[in-house]
Amino acid sequence: MKRIAIVGAGMAGLSALGALTKQGHVVTLFDKSRGSGGRMASKKVGNASWDMGAQFIRAHDADFMNTLHQWQRLGWIGEWAASPHVINANGIHLSDDNITRYVGLSRMTALSRQLLAPANEFIPSTRIVSCQRTDSEWLLTDENDQHYGPFDSLIINTPPQQALPLLENSHLAAAINDVEMLPCWTLLLAFHERIDTPVDAAFVHDSAIAWLARNNSKPQRDAGETWVIQASHAWSKEQVNAPREDVLQTLEQAFYSALGVQANVAVEHWLHRWLYAVPANPLGDGALFDADRELAVCGDWCQHGTLEGAWLSGQQAASYF
Ligand SMILES: Cc1cc2nc3c(=O)[nH]c(=O)nc-3n(C[C@H](O)[C@H](O)[C@H](O)COP(=O)(O)OP(=O)(O)OC[C@H]3O[C@@H](n4cnc5c(N)ncnc54)[C@H](O)[C@@H]3O)c2cc1C
Repeated sequence: MKRIAIVGAGMAGLSALGALTKQGHVVTLFDKSRGSGGRMASKKVGNASWDMGAQFIRAHDADFMNTLHQWQRLGWIGEWAASPHVINANGIHLSDDNITRYVGLSRMTALSRQLLAPANEFIPSTRIVSCQRTDSEWLLTDENDQHYGPFDSLIINTPPQQALPLLENSHLAAAINDVEMLPCWTLLLAFHERIDTPVDAAFVHDSAIAWLARNNSKPQRDAGETWVIQASHAWSKEQVNAPREDVLQTLEQAFYSALGVQANVAVEHWLHRWLYAVPANPLGDGALFDADRELAVCGDWCQHGTLEGAWLSGQQAASYF
């Protein structure tokens, strides 16, 4: 039995947590945010709520597929029956994909709360700024100079830019340096009235937008009319430092134009900039391990930029201990 610290309670860290506790280890998780889930985030403003980060979960890998079925049986996730459209210069068409898409019930973050349950301790609102290895133990320090530990082993589950300062002198830093994370501007809108379109979700081309979805078309969501609008990574990169008001106006306009509907009066607007949304060049390595220091690093960027990639990375990190 080891005492293991995980910095970052995103899907990869939570996946590692589940595997490690099954092996009998005692795990403490830290996150700088108020809750768990990372980029599997949800947002509530007034009476409106949205999945602000990851929109749905899909599986290619057999183990992950089995895990999704298990989560579905537990009532943690459900199938989202929407058939996505494709919107491009030729108009609006149903996409020919027949993928099963799952979503957290009743929001994406709720899944992370379930996955967190086996933790010995979850310490939120705590940004770890330094991880120090003595002869055989790890000591962690947060931005308020609070110390935590000792731990036998450490897993870092943060985006690469946030992992680098925590790696002290580990050789793993070299592999991480070149991973680029792409940004994504995300606009959340709520309306009094239903937007009159058969489209519940769409991949959008030839536009500032890459994805739009009627959040309330997902199972067990609030009934109010809510939409998630994600800019393309290319547009987000170009406009990464643009004034928020300009970004909001452009994306809202592009949304009406993509759906071919009259501009409507949104009752809530929320704009979020994901600086580290998805990896441009994931390592495809599962997870990284420094055996001398009992240190693993995991995250979607170690494997593939999806929840599935993050989950697989967490499983790989846990297998090192
Ligand atoms: C807008 C958007 C849409 C997406 N859509 C989809 C989708 O539809 N389907 C899909 O499969 N994937 C999607 N993804 C990708 C998916 O969200 C990610 O691949 C996955 O959530 C990454 O999980 P992770 O554990 O690797 O990292 P994260 O979720 O980023 O978790 C890292 C955690 O580390 C914490 N942290 C960072 N630094 C510190 C520190 N110093 N101290 C303490 N805590 C720290 C962060 O707060 C965070 O909670 C989307 C992502 C975005 C942004």
